[in-house]
Amino acid sequence: MNNRCSHGGLNMRGGRLGLWVLAAVVSVSLPPAAGQEPPETTVLEGALLIDGSGRPPLAKSVLIIEEGKIRAVGKLGAMRYPEGAEIVNLRGKTIMPPLINLHGHLGQTRDGFNAAPHGYTAENLRDQLAKYLAYGVGTVVSLGTDQDFVYDLRAAQRAGELPGARLYTAGRGFGVKGGFPPGGPPKMKGAVDRYRPQTPEQARAEVRELVTHKPDFVKVWVDDDFGRLPKMKPEIFRAIIEEAHQQGLRVIAHVFYLEGAKALVQAGVDGLGHSIRDQAVDADLISAMKARGVFLIPTLVRDESTFAYADPPRWLDDRFFQAGLEIGVLTSLKSSAFINQNRANPDLPKLRAAFEMGKKNLKTLFDAGVKIGFGTDSGPPKRFQGFFEHRELQLMVESGLTPLQAIAAATRTSAEILGANSEFGTLSPGKQADFLVLDANPLDDIHNTEELVAVWQAGKPLPPIAARK
Ligand SMILES: [Zn+2]
Repeated sequence: MNNRCSHGGLNMRGGRLGLWVLAAVVSVSLPPAAGQEPPETTVLEGALLIDGSGRPPLAKSVLIIEEGKIRAVGKLGAMRYPEGAEIVNLRGKTIMPPLINLHGHLGQTRDGFNAAPHGYTAENLRDQLAKYLAYGVGTVVSLGTDQDFVYDLRAAQRAGELPGARLYTAGRGFGVKGGFPPGGPPKMKGAVDRYRPQTPEQARAEVRELVTHKPDFVKVWVDDDFGRLPKMKPEIFRAIIEEAHQQGLRVIAHVFYLEGAKALVQAGVDGLGHSIRDQAVDADLISAMKARGVFLIPTLVRDESTFAYADPPRWLDDRFFQAGLEIGVLTSLKSSAFINQNRANPDLPKLRAAFEMGKKNLKTLFDAGVKIGFGTDSGPPKRFQGFFEHRELQLMVESGLTPLQAIAAATRTSAEILGANSEFGTLSPGKQADFLVLDANPLDDIHNTEELVAVWQAGKPLPPIAARK
């Protein structure tokens, strides 16, 4: 017999928090696991289901979860429910896979606004992974700014001891002495800087050191900050890429210029970690990226954030944005001192143009069939973890992708890039039961991904960001 929840009590109009609270009650009402007990099963019925594959959504769906995994997906009225399953009514809701951020950073700020030179701590990383997940970001790749204890956290998480967004890392990335990435190591005892090799031999030796930690990717920065900083020499990035490949690792590059992107693709880079922002991409780059299967992570929102605060963006008043803010940050963002400081940036016209070029190039590359992943470069000060991932979807749609295409990039394609598409990324049988429950359909308006009422991870509901305060 099915234990139906009291659907009358599942009144979402009463509040955004009701769903996860109720769903949590469903979970704890299950009998304790024992030898003879049937497997723990939950049936979610009635939602519009966006499976992440890029296929059209399934109306009036049924999603059957067993022991934290998706057992079956089908149509309401055409599915047999497992004996004893708990049933959750999701009529009027939309479900979709959590977002996968292939380009984030951890431990660089505590409040989201100020740099935190002492912020690279296990506690802060835990908090940030929790915030990502509460915003519906199920996976984050920390791209090249980590300290080595990140590997302990990753191991703890894989052992079930660290909640929050699933963590991948590129460990310590490869930059240039006196150049990109600017900054340096956190101001903490024992903290190390990025690698900054000066010869190909040194670069190879440092890749071999990095490999001992088993990172998920290798990160290189190839940029000169509008000509102001030394740029990584081709013989250095060639050595890094070659050695990484010999060691079985893939390389993602920070890029800005078309010429840099071409040289990196020719050198065998696996992914571009930002948009190409100086000029329109051309047929040479497109054919080389396609021939070699090189993916692009646009990070449009990162580019928007470089100029947006000079003219406060509308999303500062978005309650979903505000739900994740620490105390005082909104006041700081809206202060005339901060606005004026941003307006005084002489690079503003170049930064605005770079953003527009990045959007245009995304559409060109997508239409040409280049693999488009999803990432934001969130995590440094004023690049808000969690909200920025939703903003990125909006900007991808502004660039000309459909909501369905943008969502597929952020779910299926990004899981493929991680090599994890047999575990997550789409809502199909055998995958982990991770998904978002939305109060409105993001295919009608991509902003509706912000109507987040629950985040499910491994078949269990968790509170969304709006419920955390
Ligand atoms: Zn970055």
